[in-house]
Amino acid sequence: MKLYNYVGPQEIADAVSSIAPGFAVLSPAALMQWLKDDRQHADGDGHVIATFVVDRHGTLRVADRCSEHVACAGGQPVLSAGEITFQVGRHEVQIHAVTNQSTGYCPEPASWPQVAAAIGKAGLPAPAGFHVNFLFRKCSQCHALNLIKENVFVCAMCDARLPAEWNLA
Ligand SMILES: [Zn+2]
Repeated sequence: MKLYNYVGPQEIADAVSSIAPGFAVLSPAALMQWLKDDRQHADGDGHVIATFVVDRHGTLRVADRCSEHVACAGGQPVLSAGEITFQVGRHEVQIHAVTNQSTGYCPEPASWPQVAAAIGKAGLPAPAGFHVNFLFRKCSQCHALNLIKENVFVCAMCDARLPAEWNLA
């Protein structure tokens, strides 16, 4: 399985290096407890959005949405990362949507099976796939990190052509 290393700014990794990793979700009950303990309040639709990573052991780890992915991962490489939306009821929680939106790790859409497996390990049903697939590419000319929109593989900073293949290793 492909491990993604942190590719974001070193200052951020340094700044969060003493923060505890994200909460390891190993059962729906534990997730409910985390939502309560971490004072995560659902919006009007019952949704809570959180930062998540799948650690190298295939465990789903979550943290407040404002948290950096590298903090959630304890500075370690991950199998995937992004944002996860929970549908929170009074007594139960479901996964509403998941994306691979993490500029810290820039995981590929192909990392979905690892996310589905981690959600399964947490005892929850997984959605069919990422709700939104983000494509990240690094510009070979100016080294800017680009988020590909509408299949336009052109650097937003310098107009250089971006590679078709993922290149953030
Ligand atoms: Zn560029």
